[in-house]
Amino acid sequence: MIRPLIATIDLAALKYNLAIVRRHAPRSKVFAVVKANAYGHGLERAARALAEAEGLALLELDAAVALREAGCRQRLLLLEGFFDASELPVLTRHRIATVVHGREQLDMLRQLPGNAALDVFVKINTGMNRLGFAPEEFPDALRTLESHPGVAGVTLMTHFASADEPRGVQWQMEVYDRLANGVKLPGSLANSAAVLRYPETHRDWVRPGIMLYGCSPFAERSGADIGLRPAMTLESRVIAVRELKRGDTVGYGGLFTAKRDTRAGVVACGYADGYPRHAPTGTPIMVGGRMTRTLGRVSMDLLCADLSGIPEATAGSRVVLWGEGVPVERVAAAAGTVGYQLLCALAPRVRIVEI
Ligand SMILES: *Cc1c(COP(=O)(O)O)cnc(C)c1O
Repeated sequence: MIRPLIATIDLAALKYNLAIVRRHAPRSKVFAVVKANAYGHGLERAARALAEAEGLALLELDAAVALREAGCRQRLLLLEGFFDASELPVLTRHRIATVVHGREQLDMLRQLPGNAALDVFVKINTGMNRLGFAPEEFPDALRTLESHPGVAGVTLMTHFASADEPRGVQWQMEVYDRLANGVKLPGSLANSAAVLRYPETHRDWVRPGIMLYGCSPFAERSGADIGLRPAMTLESRVIAVRELKRGDTVGYGGLFTAKRDTRAGVVACGYADGYPRHAPTGTPIMVGGRMTRTLGRVSMDLLCADLSGIPEATAGSRVVLWGEGVPVERVAAAAGTVGYQLLCALAPRVRIVEI
């Protein structure tokens, strides 16, 4: 017998969600963001499902090279760019585009040969204050890039800090548009939240990540509310049933105490699989097609589900931890985090089944 925990990856859902991106941003090209092993879904697998996107954006140069060598013909963009000048020949050999976000990278570009034809996305810091040229540095940086014979094309780029929140994007758009107006260059601004909420940000290239995987970027709306389909369903089975008496406790630390006789199902899934350890009693979980709650502390390999209202549930009953029927956003919210983190943290030991 094999352990019953599996992550089902629905390739049709990835394609479907890409079509939703197109519906929201019909005039833009799409960089499908596949960083962090495609948000836990598997880079090669997601790249295959998202072959219709004009580009793929990720962080690691070696992963981008592997995509090229596997026959990927799409534009490839490194979102943090290069870290050392020794990477430049690899970028040009494999036609991989790079973000340039700071002075250090401009210095390294002096080592780029004049015939390199490097494709550059110059990142402007419009208020996020992580990466990017400050507005006052930007004109100089752009001049340096445009006058470099080895730079074949420049696209302007920025990233939003609060596209998913009431503060919105206007305050950053004002900075961006002031710098971009008069510069006849393509632009790339929108993450998933901006794709969904701010059409004025769409421009030439959008960069959706989380929505491709069927998860909402907003705290107050689920992926299903937005019309997305979850691409990952993490599912397992009940492998033992406990009849708890009033006063019995469950699991490490005895964090849950039964107030009345309670049936508990022990589920083959724990934090070593990527389920959040800090998910408290009451986190939503589905057993045998019925919604219920977790009980007690999540341990490394196991967690408990309340079977009180589900008399038909027994050892062998199917459990959905998140995905189809159990929005990962809801599990994440119960655990004080976001769906992004749960998807990315899927552990390598979890078996993947593609459908
Ligand atoms: C991760 C990332 C995105 C995608 O963000 P989502 O919220 O997942 O859509 C877009 N642009 C950059 C620069 C990123 O790092």
